[in-house]
Amino acid sequence: MRFALRLIIACLSGISGIAALLFILKPDLIEDQKTWLLGAITVLLIASLVSTTLSIMAPVAAAPEALPEEASDTDRQLHGEAVKVVSQLRGFVEASGNFKTALAKASDQLPKMLKADQVQLVISYLMIENDNMRKRTADLQGNLEQSQRQIEKLKSHLAVAEEQGLSDGLTGLRNRRGFDITLAAEIASARSGHKPLSLIIADIDHFKLVNDRYGHQTGDDVLKWFARMLSANMKGRDTVARYGGEEFAIILPQTTVENAANLAGQIKQQLEAKLWTKPGAPNTSLRITASFGVAQLGEQEGTSSLIQRADAKLYECKANGRNRVAA
Ligand code: GH3
Ligand code: MG
Ligand code: MG
Repeated sequence: MRFALRLIIACLSGISGIAALLFILKPDLIEDQKTWLLGAITVLLIASLVSTTLSIMAPVAAAPEALPEEASDTDRQLHGEAVKVVSQLRGFVEASGNFKTALAKASDQLPKMLKADQVQLVISYLMIENDNMRKRTADLQGNLEQSQRQIEKLKSHLAVAEEQGLSDGLTGLRNRRGFDITLAAEIASARSGHKPLSLIIADIDHFKLVNDRYGHQTGDDVLKWFARMLSANMKGRDTVARYGGEEFAIILPQTTVENAANLAGQIKQQLEAKLWTKPGAPNTSLRITASFGVAQLGEQEGTSSLIQRADAKLYECKANGRNRVAA
């Protein structure tokens, strides 16, 4: 609807522009010059007024292109904001293009004009266009500033949402999705840099008993404590993630399987040396142990095979009595 209206306005502007030009170039062709001139100017002014009003009322064509179904609300809002900015800029470029053309025409025609009222006519037309242009520039600046603020706000929401989507609510570590993304990136980097990469999967032994004896809340506290302990042993680009339940995964870039197994052994010893004590209940202390499956990325190996081999080693530990490392 708005497009059809704009099209009609553009046609009217074109026709009246041609009429005004004819009047300027070939005044003899037109018999009743005054009537023609007045008509052309009136149509030009009305078209210009309606077009300015339309652009003020609807400075944007904010219908965003179709986004994938899984796109979040923030994604959609950001996309809408981008469409808005592009549309504002496009409108401005079009308007400044028109203004440039009008200026060029005028500078071409002005020297040929002898009559004062002809010059006056072109000058009033240019003044109107100049006014429109100033208004558009002010509008554009205001709209862009508003969009900029909106985009900044959405970007920070997106960063928070993304971070929340990749981290585990209980321990604050990377969650399974975060683990998958990090592992894929680290494997790609290890391949391109021809560097080793190892993976440890750690599983708390008999964790179900902790829940059964002391309740789920205590189980959660133990998980948080265990996560902190693992994190304290990380260096450089190492990543620890909660793989699921009471299983944790450690990605070790630039690390051979021997060094990874040493690190797992070190963590196992730290666990053996400590007792977990329930905060506020010093008599409730538990000895927590864990089993560690370790594997190094093979030359042609993919993600799932690496995880499976580390998992198989973990299973070996469990089958052989727990509280051990297998590589
Ligand atoms: P194993 O030595 O063979 O690993 O024995 P396990 O008891 O540790 O393993 P199992 O798979 O039998 O039990 C895991 C338990 O972990 C069962 C589940 O209820 C508990 N669990 C998983 N996620 C959470 C959690 O977020 N909080 C708590 N408190 N418990 C959890
Ligand atoms: Mg377990
Ligand atoms: Mg388990």
